[in-house]
Amino acid sequence: MIYLDYAATTPLDERVFEAMLPYLKPDGLHGNPASTHGPGFKARAAVEAARRQVASLIGADASEIIWTSGATESNNLAIKGALEFRGLPKAGKPAHIVTSKTEHKCVLDTCRHLETLGARVTYLKPDADGRVSPEAVMAAITPDTALVSLMWVNNEIGAVNDIERLAPSLRERGVMLHVDAAQAAGKLAIDLAAVPIDLLSLSAHKLYGPKGVGALFVRRKPRARLSPQMHGGGHEQGMRSGTLAPHQVVGMGAACALAAERFEADIAHWSGLRDALWTRLREVPGVLRNGPAEGTRAAPHLLNLSFPGVEGEALRASLGGIAVSSGSACSSATAEPSYVLRALGRDDETANASLRFSFGRKTTLAEIETVARTVIEQVAWLRELSPLPRTW
Ligand SMILES: *Cc1c(COP(=O)(O)O)cnc(C)c1O
Repeated sequence: MIYLDYAATTPLDERVFEAMLPYLKPDGLHGNPASTHGPGFKARAAVEAARRQVASLIGADASEIIWTSGATESNNLAIKGALEFRGLPKAGKPAHIVTSKTEHKCVLDTCRHLETLGARVTYLKPDADGRVSPEAVMAAITPDTALVSLMWVNNEIGAVNDIERLAPSLRERGVMLHVDAAQAAGKLAIDLAAVPIDLLSLSAHKLYGPKGVGALFVRRKPRARLSPQMHGGGHEQGMRSGTLAPHQVVGMGAACALAAERFEADIAHWSGLRDALWTRLREVPGVLRNGPAEGTRAAPHLLNLSFPGVEGEALRASLGGIAVSSGSACSSATAEPSYVLRALGRDDETANASLRFSFGRKTTLAEIETVARTVIEQVAWLRELSPLPRTW
């Protein structure tokens, strides 16, 4: 099996696994971090050390990190929590959110939910490269705008929004900014000491940590205020109740520390693989690269291509022992063409003819060569069988 679906999820790094084990073993450190006795203090110390590791990766302070179950929860907490804290949406008091058409489903569905409660949401269309410019965001701001939610790196196409330039403009206008950074952490430099983002979502399992744990950065100065979406014992500064899972949290901390340590090497490795695969697959007649144009800022770890004349899902299935995504992993249970590719202006057929390749620490050039050869063969074969008129 050749796994090229690291943008959907990564395995645990061995060092992350080792760090988690003491908190998972039956005879290990099982204390509740909220307890005030020895085992509790030990668990608490581990949780706080992990908090510092996560904060350090993104230039934040440890007190600004709230543990969650993943980026889906972080995004829900950020968007619903920010509005609810201001008592929005409320009759006679409009609430406006600015976001984009290419956000992850969990942001879009949260916004749709708030629309049913009376919020107004602007879904910005990206440019042909998949980016939403700071100018487009600023042009959509109204006096009622309570929040902008914009992803840093798109999970399907690797487009990178210019958050560094957007954030100061929003700060100046007094509009809160939430950024989904699930695909950005460990893939590009994030320095929250320099970039005035209010809320930022992270997920452990996109960067070699365990599934089921994430974090939300909540800025202290100026204080970003949120209403909790999970009520209970007042854990996590009252923003997210529930007994913490030290093994998960320690895993996320270790994953972030590793990502920081390996940052340069990881990026060089992934972008080398991405460019090698593109060099081979650009030979396929008619192939289209979806997302940022070559030579422009793009996420290092993924490549999204359309092969006109073939069904992405048929192509994916024909690849045998190669794991990649067609369309999006999250929406491939439905037969709908990817809404992200549609938002770039791709027609249904081209959007349906897409594959997303994403790369990991253990991916080798030899694997890339095997994948390239297999894809070239299968595209040719499926095109032979295709009743479609030849446009490629
Ligand atoms: C994976 C992903 C999410 C969801 O994260 P989970 O931790 O799986 O809930 C949100 N946004 C983006 C951009 C993602 O890639």
